[in-house]
Amino acid sequence: MLWGLPLKYSTIADAYEEIERTTKRLEMTDLLVNLLKSTSREVIDKVAYLTQGRIYPDFVGIEIGVAEKLAVKALVRVSGRRDVDIEEELKKTGDLGETAEKFVAAKKQVTFFQQPLTVQRVYETLDKMAKASGSGAVDLKLSLLAGLLAAASPKEAKYIMRTVTGNLRLGIADMTVLDALAIAYGGGKEARGQVERAYTICSDLGRVAKTIAEEGLEGIGKFRVSISEPIRPMLAERLSSPEEILEKLGGKCMAEYKYDGERLQAHKKGNTVKLFSRRLEDISSQYPDAVELFKKHVKAEDAILECECVAVDLDTGEMRPFQELMHRRRKYEIERAIDDYPVSLFVFEVLYVDGRDLTLESYPVRRGILERIVEESDRVKLANGALVSAPAELEKFFMEAIENGCEGLVCKSISSDSVYQAGARGWLWIKYKRDYKSEMTDTVDLVVVGAFHGRGKRAGTYGALLLAAYTSERDTFETVTKCGTGFTDEDLGKLPKMMHDHVVPHKHSRVDSMLEADVWFEPALVIEVLGAEMTLSPIHTCAMGSVRKGRGLAIRFPRFTGNYRFDKAAEDATTSAEVLEIYRNQLKRIGQS
Ligand code: AMP
Repeated sequence: MLWGLPLKYSTIADAYEEIERTTKRLEMTDLLVNLLKSTSREVIDKVAYLTQGRIYPDFVGIEIGVAEKLAVKALVRVSGRRDVDIEEELKKTGDLGETAEKFVAAKKQVTFFQQPLTVQRVYETLDKMAKASGSGAVDLKLSLLAGLLAAASPKEAKYIMRTVTGNLRLGIADMTVLDALAIAYGGGKEARGQVERAYTICSDLGRVAKTIAEEGLEGIGKFRVSISEPIRPMLAERLSSPEEILEKLGGKCMAEYKYDGERLQAHKKGNTVKLFSRRLEDISSQYPDAVELFKKHVKAEDAILECECVAVDLDTGEMRPFQELMHRRRKYEIERAIDDYPVSLFVFEVLYVDGRDLTLESYPVRRGILERIVEESDRVKLANGALVSAPAELEKFFMEAIENGCEGLVCKSISSDSVYQAGARGWLWIKYKRDYKSEMTDTVDLVVVGAFHGRGKRAGTYGALLLAAYTSERDTFETVTKCGTGFTDEDLGKLPKMMHDHVVPHKHSRVDSMLEADVWFEPALVIEVLGAEMTLSPIHTCAMGSVRKGRGLAIRFPRFTGNYRFDKAAEDATTSAEVLEIYRNQLKRIGQS
């Protein structure tokens, strides 16, 4: 090892070139091992980031971000050639790296000897470029890049150019770097598990590289979860029957609702909260409301928690489809998006609390702590869970989850070794999802047969309407959904008056419903509704038993379109047979029948 001697950038560029030539992972690992071994400890973290085309771990969110136009300008400045020449060449190669290599080579023949570029200098310059901001940023980036290219050999210029424009793409997976680190500094491949664990709990390849190079496996063994470094999320395997799930989990498990939203990892340190996405990007600025909810409802000074963030209708308390969260992916007018698309949080994990790393504790221990530190409210809840030990119980809870707007269940091991497997898809969590789901594109006209009292802003009016399809064979109205979305304040104000003459003291004799409404109506008013999808349901009676015994059809995430179909009598509403046909047709279209 060349301790003390500054690492030349050309060493990296040579290694990159060789790595690019191979497609075999083992060869690639060997080349990386050699590179890492010849790297001094001071810069090994930087080398690790650079092999990934980055200068920081992803979650820091600092990117070099040089646009192609600016890169071409830098090359014009260094090569003394016209931009049209460079652009023409770029059209041929399609690669700024190769283009830079060519133009720098042409120029080099007439330049004098220069100091070789060091990794340190390249890294520091890239860092300055990444952090340049404000009015002079573009000029500063341009002169920094030109300075680097002027000092670079043609081969170095190729890789610098690819790095700054985000096109390095050496194809070295994070996992290959971990293999190489285990071999170079951990005594061999056997150390890979330990190295990987360190990486999965800090997500920082550079920090792992530096620690193992400086302190060996002992240092790696001291890695603990720490706030502000996102943990790679644990993932679930999938099975399709309650029997298989229980067998795999040792006969009993904790079944939790599988909410359909966006996974958030919250890092709370005192009064500061950072939120990371499933891909470990810092998305705190997208969810200031979630940040506040965590501050208010987590009773621990420092903690790392995971939750599913779900779009909700605050007036009805109903969950909304995942797609609505897409409106929260924005940089501007966030305040408006918060009002238009409010969210609730369903917390399902705690990984750290007040100095204690919980990732190696069992699930029951973690859940116990979670229950102690999360103060539930309307908007913050623990993931609903039930301990189950029989297939029928699991199936019942599954159907309940679906009725309540969830995707299914995540069944979790409760054994003593049910640790949090950061970054792994394992059998400690098994998801059980709806198989039969069908997307809806057409509206349906449904009959209002009942209503539920509203709460909150909707107190005194209806929170949701119970809607039914018509069955001519039996001359009955079969319930298919509960709809509370899409009504304006004006609709809400006038609905009780509109329905007044149709109120009946108990369920109407022609209505077939397993749900108990607060108010019942004679079937009269027809409204137009658009749903997001259809699913099998044990509590809606529409086309009961036609697809599966004991199951009717339900429309999920219904929304009133604003059209009252006064032109239709109740018997003219969409029929159960039509609903069944829509379900079947759409299943066919998405290839599930
Ligand atoms: P999938 O994305 O289909 O692999 O399912 C796993 C995802 O379900 C996780 O990444 C979470 O975002 C989400 N999820 C929803 N509810 C839960 C829960 N109670 N426990 C764990 N994950 C959940």
